[in-house]
Amino acid sequence: MAGLCAAISALEKGANVLVLEKGTRFGGSMWLSNGVIWTFANRAQVRKHIPDGDEALQDFLVDGLPDSLVWLVSQGVELEPEQPFQGYGRGRRSNPAQMTPMLVNRVKALGGRILLGTAMQALLTGDGAVTGVLAFDANGALEVEANSVILATGGFQGNAELVARYITPYADSMYLRSNPCSTGDGFIAAVDIGAAVTPLLNTFYGHALVAPPARFNAFEFQSISQKYGPMSVALNLEGRRFADESAGTGEELLNFHIASQPQATAVYIVDAAIAGMSSENQPPPRVAIARAREAGGPVIEADSLEDLAEKMRAWGLPPVEVLKSLQGYNAAVRSGSGDRLQPARRMNAFPIEKAPFTAVLVRSSITFTCGGLQADLDMRVLRRASSVSLLPMVTADLSEIQTAAIPNLYVAGCDLGGISNRGYMGGLSHALVTGRAAGTAAASGG
Ligand SMILES: Cc1cc2nc3c(=O)[nH]c(=O)nc-3n(C[C@H](O)[C@H](O)[C@H](O)COP(=O)(O)OP(=O)(O)OC[C@H]3O[C@@H](n4cnc5c(N)ncnc54)[C@H](O)[C@@H]3O)c2cc1C
Repeated sequence: MAGLCAAISALEKGANVLVLEKGTRFGGSMWLSNGVIWTFANRAQVRKHIPDGDEALQDFLVDGLPDSLVWLVSQGVELEPEQPFQGYGRGRRSNPAQMTPMLVNRVKALGGRILLGTAMQALLTGDGAVTGVLAFDANGALEVEANSVILATGGFQGNAELVARYITPYADSMYLRSNPCSTGDGFIAAVDIGAAVTPLLNTFYGHALVAPPARFNAFEFQSISQKYGPMSVALNLEGRRFADESAGTGEELLNFHIASQPQATAVYIVDAAIAGMSSENQPPPRVAIARAREAGGPVIEADSLEDLAEKMRAWGLPPVEVLKSLQGYNAAVRSGSGDRLQPARRMNAFPIEKAPFTAVLVRSSITFTCGGLQADLDMRVLRRASSVSLLPMVTADLSEIQTAAIPNLYVAGCDLGGISNRGYMGGLSHALVTGRAAGTAAASGG
């Protein structure tokens, strides 16, 4: 998404453009997505829901989305009318199967060239400036000289070593809920020549998916996602609650916490009442639970909490601890003191009391990494020497630090950090707005 939008924007400014695509198809994760191009309705909502981000970049996204949606339509992309999103956002739904070929065709129609199956691996430099890239295709190495390079490789979620380094020791247990090519190539190449990275490299966006032995393919990521987690009681393999299930902008925060639990695994427990509850933009939990069952995933049903806890022994959970957690939770929410639980339960304080009870074994998944390269509003990648990490923010006099960009290097989409972190501002909107900005600036040498 970011790469194609950057390419079109640079072409519109008169640049010659070559797009390198590592995969054997176009569209990366955009093609797999639900197509909702949304972000927060205003800056105040962003401050409330996603503190600790780069405020200038976040505002740039909120302010830039309306114009970018108009631009997208002008490229031939079909969008549904604007809709409210989750009570705090707004957006328009696209059809990725229409949008992807449309953007690819626009690149070609404007004179751009695209090489499929060609992976950027390293940046070429001279006198401290970027002069091109080293890439590889099936025939071997390829050196491409360029006045500007825009990195848009989609984040580092596909790189288990980087995920283990920055996110969780249970990286090998996590599901990759994204295209398989986003293995941090842009991040690694830029850091290798001195790029600055953002704080919160441990943060990412994703949704819990039903655990193995469930079988599903990449186009089923959406339907197999167990997004009702914030309405459930979530236990780890020790039988304990580990987070306020209801916190955050959506199930992504709970999914983030599951990543740090043993085997990146948890159990979502609902009763018959919760299983039938609809919420805005989401079908009732029983729909996703039925999909989990159909896919062959671990799902247990029982008529009493005692029986449910006993059956969970087969998944390795201790029944005594499970029952203690559920009974403690029920007592607290029934008496209106969910916020005094450890961890607290502040919203969706529904007791688990109406049979039948259902437990679904889930695993954390990663769709895209939220930390990444640091850039200014022209999407110019900043040098590490001038980077501002969280520690100096607290202790240093920032006037001592001079900010400088790496000449000729730009970034867009998930390779750029500082926008989402423990909360999510939208992935397609981020790619669209920053892609356009990077393409425009790169073409004019801004
Ligand atoms: C199931 C699912 C549902 C989603 N639903 C939504 C939604 O409704 N709304 C929303 O806002 N977001 C959604 N997203 C997230 C959204 O798809 C991403 O945030 C967005 O596509 C990111 O854009 P990007 O350009 O950074 O990465 P991508 O769109 O993934 O593009 C990155 C591209 O870089 C290529 N690449 C990687 N490495 C190299 C290399 N070394 N050289 C050359 N090419 C390389 C990849 O092959 C890929 O084509 C969803 C994602 C998934 C998986």
